[in-house]
Amino acid sequence: MKYVLVAINLPVKNLFRQFIYGLPDSMGQAGEGWRVVVPFGPQKVEGFIVRDFDREEALALLQKENPGFSIDKMKEVTAVLGTRPWFSEEMMGTAKWLAGYYMCSLAEAMRLFIPGKTSIRRKPVYQEGRLIAYEIEERLKARTVVAYTITEMGKAALAEGSRRAKAQMQALEVLLHATEPLDRKEAEAQHISGAVLQTLAEKGWALRTEKRLLRNSYDRQAERKETLQLTEEQAQAVAAIKASLDYFPAGKPAEEETDEPGAAVFGGDAGKQKTETTCEKTRPQEFLLQGITGSGKTEVYLRAADHALRQGKQVLVLVPEIALTAQIVQRFQAWFGQEVAVAHSKLSQNERGDVWYKMRTGEANVLIGVRSAVFAPFKNLGLVMVDEEQETSYKQEERPAYHAREVARYRCKNSGAVLVLGSATPSLESYFRAVSGRIGHLQLKRRPGSSFLPAVDVVDMREELAQKNYSVISRKLRRELIATVHADQQAIVLLNRRGYSTFVMCRDCGETLTCPHCAVSLVFHADEQAMRCHYCGNTYPIPETCPHCGSRRIKFFGSGTQKAEQEIGQMPGIQVLRMDQDSTATKMAHEEIIRRFSRKEANVLLGTQMVAKGHDIPDVTLVGILAADSTLNMPDFRASERGFSLLTQAAGRAGRGDKPGRVVLQTYDPENEIITLAARQDYETFAGHELAMRKELLYPPYGEILKVTVVDKEEKKAWELADEMARFLRSRYEAEHWERTEIMGPFPSGVAKVRDLYRINIVVKSQAMEQVKACLLASRYRTVKNVFFDVDPIMA
Ligand code: ADP
Ligand code: ZN
Ligand code: ZN
Repeated sequence: MKYVLVAINLPVKNLFRQFIYGLPDSMGQAGEGWRVVVPFGPQKVEGFIVRDFDREEALALLQKENPGFSIDKMKEVTAVLGTRPWFSEEMMGTAKWLAGYYMCSLAEAMRLFIPGKTSIRRKPVYQEGRLIAYEIEERLKARTVVAYTITEMGKAALAEGSRRAKAQMQALEVLLHATEPLDRKEAEAQHISGAVLQTLAEKGWALRTEKRLLRNSYDRQAERKETLQLTEEQAQAVAAIKASLDYFPAGKPAEEETDEPGAAVFGGDAGKQKTETTCEKTRPQEFLLQGITGSGKTEVYLRAADHALRQGKQVLVLVPEIALTAQIVQRFQAWFGQEVAVAHSKLSQNERGDVWYKMRTGEANVLIGVRSAVFAPFKNLGLVMVDEEQETSYKQEERPAYHAREVARYRCKNSGAVLVLGSATPSLESYFRAVSGRIGHLQLKRRPGSSFLPAVDVVDMREELAQKNYSVISRKLRRELIATVHADQQAIVLLNRRGYSTFVMCRDCGETLTCPHCAVSLVFHADEQAMRCHYCGNTYPIPETCPHCGSRRIKFFGSGTQKAEQEIGQMPGIQVLRMDQDSTATKMAHEEIIRRFSRKEANVLLGTQMVAKGHDIPDVTLVGILAADSTLNMPDFRASERGFSLLTQAAGRAGRGDKPGRVVLQTYDPENEIITLAARQDYETFAGHELAMRKELLYPPYGEILKVTVVDKEEKKAWELADEMARFLRSRYEAEHWERTEIMGPFPSGVAKVRDLYRINIVVKSQAMEQVKACLLASRYRTVKNVFFDVDPIMA
């Protein structure tokens, strides 16, 4: 009998322990990475084998964990699930890394790789009357067709020739030269009838076999725009990715990473030069594909995917939100037909199970999906592309709070797959990696053809007030909207309703109140009648006059944009379609809205940030951005990055066809640097300034952040535990001399109370995060139920 160490698949927080079970000889094939059913208390539950060993080792482990327990009383595995391990070596490795990095239990990490309980098709398998396994995979119905190959007899007949059976001879000739068995459809294309094929088979001249049908392989050519001439920049990007695909054999971990930490200083131009030379010399396994909006990144993804598929590798495309990316899915389906499987968050667990199965067996070879698709089991993963890699939806907010881009990076490294991060406005973390030469940097700086970036008009809303226009629509935008629809073109209007209405802004100088220590906007808290910083917890009184210019016209900034729909709807000749959370709650509502807008059932599309992203509608020539300020004043150190990205993406919707586009951007702060840089789509300058700020304040990529949240029904208890943890961290910090580290708090969480639970935060910024994590994981706090760790948090 073998013994196995099992992680229990139960939605239990902090079940860090694993359990030893006996593995009956009838299940002896099982081992590391297998899914099993084990007795756990009174229940039978699923578990994952994380190690297997012999009796000696089991005894030794038992001695350590539970001395006095007899190995002969050990419980046994009830049954195994499936006929091979679910976790490949690479998946096991990734799960272990994830558990350590994101500070969760191994079981929690491994659960992420399971498509969901109900998708296990539990068909019992018995051997000599005893249950030994559950079948979890049902072969998908093989999609095969009858096909023909030539036999030796057929070859002889062809050599002999026959004047009477001319059609048959022709058919034999074609079969002789075919590289693969020929099905009826393919035969017909060569003017061979089904009847002739049948006759050949009857005569023993051809052999009937079955071959796997490449679904959709017929109509594919027409739609795939293969003839489209790549721009030089696109061609270069494709060539670089192809070269790396050729260089890295899938299935093998890459050589030790060249991610030397030496480049911790942002070097401006020096950094750039370094990139170019490193790219030429080595084959990077990871790329940043930085391309302005409309520069044709999707075209690059398609050709890279095509190359990987030709090499027999599988492709994963991660997208921020499936509803926003219907166009990417369509274009991939046009190229690759049924090779494409799609995994979005609204799939049922069974549907998800099917998608997983297709990837695991190679039934499909391109997976497009949202963040959780990064956990799919692949047969032979060779290429991962993360579109709009800066999007925060890649980060899971609940535990385990993983980031799909980071998981993708780890999987790629360990499976020899190439990683491509695509964006017009990359996260500063990725940009920094690119300019410091750690990853390849591919740039698309121009739009193909005659399409240009739109001209941007910045409208000062203070001026509007001065002119007694109290509407949320400026006079300029109003004129442009009417002119646009009059010319039979379309417009998109972005109103960022999600912005906090709780920041304070001066109507005269446009400055907002920010925390002097953290450079993030302060948030008004009614209970304290004060402004609070969500990073360091400091509170500040609400000033009566603007600290910058002394004006008394300092006000809470409410978005006030609800009126926008009404006002625009009343303009002459305008039909508005609205798109936001409320209007897109149902499964396909979003795509339906885009379809209707593309069919010109309305001429203005109005909505929150969803309208800013991913659509390519040729008749859109005008984009209006209301209250650009509210995107920049989230209480988040990434607020500028996100604001810049949103403004750039929104502006990028205009003028994608052959008609020039224009953008009207409304703001109370027209001199705001981020707004002016976004208007010019000057990412480089923006990134340079932002990196300098991040460096000074120890924000990523220069420092790492860990957010610890303590929750409790009783406020007092939450504070006690949080205080204790903060003291613990500070004492370790002094004892271990951590590299530059700041420990902030405890202080009430941004949303101080959720579902009757009080939430208290401690925030650690550090250049020694590994040590910080290690010290917490070795402490008793690791398993305390009401302590949550969020590594690299998205804070807002
Ligand atoms: P991005 O994702 O970078 O914003 P897209 O991939 O959506 O850009 O491309 C924008 C538009 O340009 C699409 O309509 C696409 O078909 C078109 N396009 C892309 N590459 C080329 C090219 N080389 N020549 C002509 N049109 C192109
Ligand atoms: Zn002011
Ligand atoms: Zn602060």
